[in-house]
Amino acid sequence: MTDNSKHEPIFGTNGIRGIPNKDLSVEFAQEIGKAIGTFYGKVQVAMGRDTRDTGNMIFNAVTSGMMSAGSSVIDLGILPTPAVQYYCKTKGIFGVVITASHNPPQFNGIKCIANDGTELRREDEEKIERIYYQKSYNTVSWEESGSIKSDPTSLDLYLDGIMSHVDVKKVRDSQFRVLVDSGNGASYFTTPSLLRRLGCKVVSLNTYPDGKFTSRTSEPKPENLKDLITLMKSGTFNLGIAHDGDADRAVFIDENGNFIDGDKTLTLVVKSVIKPGSRVVTPISSSDAIDEVCSSGKAELIRTRVGAPIVSRAMIDNNAMIGGEENGGIIFGEHQYCRDGAMTAALILDLMATNGKKISELISGLPQYHIHKLSVERKKDWRILEPGILSYGETSKIEKTDGLKIYLKDGWVLMRASGTEPIIRIYGQARDEKRAKELAQEYEALILGLQEVPKAE
Ligand code: MG
Repeated sequence: MTDNSKHEPIFGTNGIRGIPNKDLSVEFAQEIGKAIGTFYGKVQVAMGRDTRDTGNMIFNAVTSGMMSAGSSVIDLGILPTPAVQYYCKTKGIFGVVITASHNPPQFNGIKCIANDGTELRREDEEKIERIYYQKSYNTVSWEESGSIKSDPTSLDLYLDGIMSHVDVKKVRDSQFRVLVDSGNGASYFTTPSLLRRLGCKVVSLNTYPDGKFTSRTSEPKPENLKDLITLMKSGTFNLGIAHDGDADRAVFIDENGNFIDGDKTLTLVVKSVIKPGSRVVTPISSSDAIDEVCSSGKAELIRTRVGAPIVSRAMIDNNAMIGGEENGGIIFGEHQYCRDGAMTAALILDLMATNGKKISELISGLPQYHIHKLSVERKKDWRILEPGILSYGETSKIEKTDGLKIYLKDGWVLMRASGTEPIIRIYGQARDEKRAKELAQEYEALILGLQEVPKAE
């Protein structure tokens, strides 16, 4: 093994993230662009971005680097990440998305898409990193430098693709009244357009691009969706939809203004699409409701480590039809092997239309489990904390697929160090909300206590 094969990773679990002009400089973005272009080669590359203020700056830096290596860019403009992925999949070309997903507005990021629409495999990201560290860029002659063009067909391509998987007539006939909150993100025109094409009466909230996300924080959590929830309580709408900044996730509010946990949405979609022998993929962080639904539907459930690209890859490797996470990220294999917020919204409307039921009725028919999530600042290395956690309390089973999952007689607790932030995520799961919260808080206190213990010298 040469020295060049070992290097610090640049791509995290969801691409490169940072604060432009702070830890994500335009010089770095341009060099990464050169490395990406060297790896992709003299081919056409689809590029999209979310609505962040620094989107154009980072886009132009990455693009100029790529073109200097001979790649030609198809600029798809502001578009949800899954719409760019669908374009890549359909055209069989590589892609790059400039986005920091649900992160605060000061962040931005660079995410590479493979020519099948999935996130680029880790080994290919490593090749790009190696080119970057070795500075072995393919700088082409001026005649061979890449060009840039746009393609206005990307919206229709994406929306037609989604609509091909739902019973459009039934949804149209239902004439749903839908309230959609894009949080000033990349779905500001895609999801309202989709809903109108599905015959819904659409009222939109925060559906204008604003790179500072002034209307609400980008992460679609209940505490960030107060306006949407309040408006849903009016009883005027059949469904409320909210996306994160790049719209690969969708969360829902029922017709009474109740926030529907992403785990329940996932369970509902899994239950509705599986057939005997189907395979389903979800990380260890989603609830036991998925196990129950898969077992009664005679489907096989595969559990993975946490992270959407890991779930996507496991779905492809196992030929699974449906997968996803408890945070509102659902992957519908027939459409594409990545999380897609608009596809998820269409599936939910399709379920409401074909079953003739309200969303609250569909949700109440599921096995009842609750997940309470907390996070604490990580002050110590995870390996130092693990023995202290393991020696605490009585456990019936311990799983180490990702962090520590401790099974108790009435639920479980999952604790893991985040791959993107210096925090420890804690998930408590139980049959009722109160117990799930108690479990998460008990282990939060334990971890806080363990981090306070002075180091033994
Ligand atoms: Mg996202």
